[in-house]
Amino acid sequence: MAIKAYAAQSATTPLAPIEIERRPTGAHDVAIDIAYCGVCHSDLHQVRSEWEGTLYPCVPGHEIVGTVTAVGGDVSAFKVGDAVGVGCMVDSCQHCASCDEGLENYCTDGGFVGTYNGPSPEAPGHTLGGYSQSIVVKDHFVLRISHPAEQLAAVAPLLCAGITTYSPLKHWGTGPGKKVGVVGIGGLGHMGIKIAHAMGAHVVAFTTSESKREAARDLGADEVIVSKNAEEMAAHAGSFDFILNTVAASHDLDQFTMLLKRDATLCVVGVPEHPHPSPNVGVLIFGRKAIAGSLIGGIAETQEMLDFCAAHKIVADIEMIPIQKIDEAYDRMQKSDVKYRFVIDNASLAA
Ligand code: NAP
Ligand code: ZN
Repeated sequence: MAIKAYAAQSATTPLAPIEIERRPTGAHDVAIDIAYCGVCHSDLHQVRSEWEGTLYPCVPGHEIVGTVTAVGGDVSAFKVGDAVGVGCMVDSCQHCASCDEGLENYCTDGGFVGTYNGPSPEAPGHTLGGYSQSIVVKDHFVLRISHPAEQLAAVAPLLCAGITTYSPLKHWGTGPGKKVGVVGIGGLGHMGIKIAHAMGAHVVAFTTSESKREAARDLGADEVIVSKNAEEMAAHAGSFDFILNTVAASHDLDQFTMLLKRDATLCVVGVPEHPHPSPNVGVLIFGRKAIAGSLIGGIAETQEMLDFCAAHKIVADIEMIPIQKIDEAYDRMQKSDVKYRFVIDNASLAA
């Protein structure tokens, strides 16, 4: 079926309308009318080919929410009318050790298939994402949404920003009695603050934007540090159990490893265009500290995160835009000028 979408045709041209095809609903497929799609910094990195390997035309979007319009004959978990979500993955091998453990995000047999820019047997040879009117997805990769219907748009960012922060926060034991830092108060970081707070930790937000100091407290931060202020930083030396760094640009990691306790971890999830300056290993060695990474989360954990957020009444703070404003939104995101996630109203695609 031909539907409307927005695509980048190259790294330097603005996104523009395009017609794309979605496959017929197969036996294990769920067809979804997309109501809203969040705008992740990864969309911007890929559209502008900052990571190389972007396939054009590129229809970004992996924070998808909407309504089921059809299900295949072998689908039992979903029915027409259900509110559902699709995140960063639409397939994986389903039989490697990682997939067997529910960690499709770390699939070792070819890697997971991204919701966009992944390999696909369908035209144009790669997957096309949520800046579009509808999508057809294998049932295993579809998530149930139990938030109130009026919150659907604000749930969209949970499908990437939510799980990308929930998974490492949980993995490294965030909870009562733990002092946890969240670096960068953007789409991911603001979700990280809300989730770490709900997990019961003492949450410290790090920002480069003086203007976000007060706002970060409203998100659930117990303390806020402007990371450019060396004195403020030094006062917290050696005191953190865990720090989650969501910054989208290359920067000095030592200023954060300095703040870790012995045996504690700094986990980076930001994927900057240019590498970070090499960390000072002395800071790690004198304290048995670690720098780690983390990639979104598995499907089962994404469902767990959605249910956790529904139970704790957590959604994203969003600014809704029509698709026609997407390039303006990218420019503002690049300048850290969004509180805290743009979400596309996909009804605007019909205009
Ligand atoms: P975002 O909304 O643009 O937020 C990034 C934040 O980083 C900004 O709001 C800003 O916060 C801070 N920042 C920006 N430039 C900075 C600089 N030069 N120095 C220090 N801080 C800076 O981006 P996002 O959507 O949250 O994504 C963040 C990163 O995570 C991106 O690289 C994205 O591709 C990546 N990502 C990774 C995964 C994964 O699975 N690992 C998943 C999704 C996204 P302040 O104003 O508070 O300083
Ligand atoms: Zn994302």
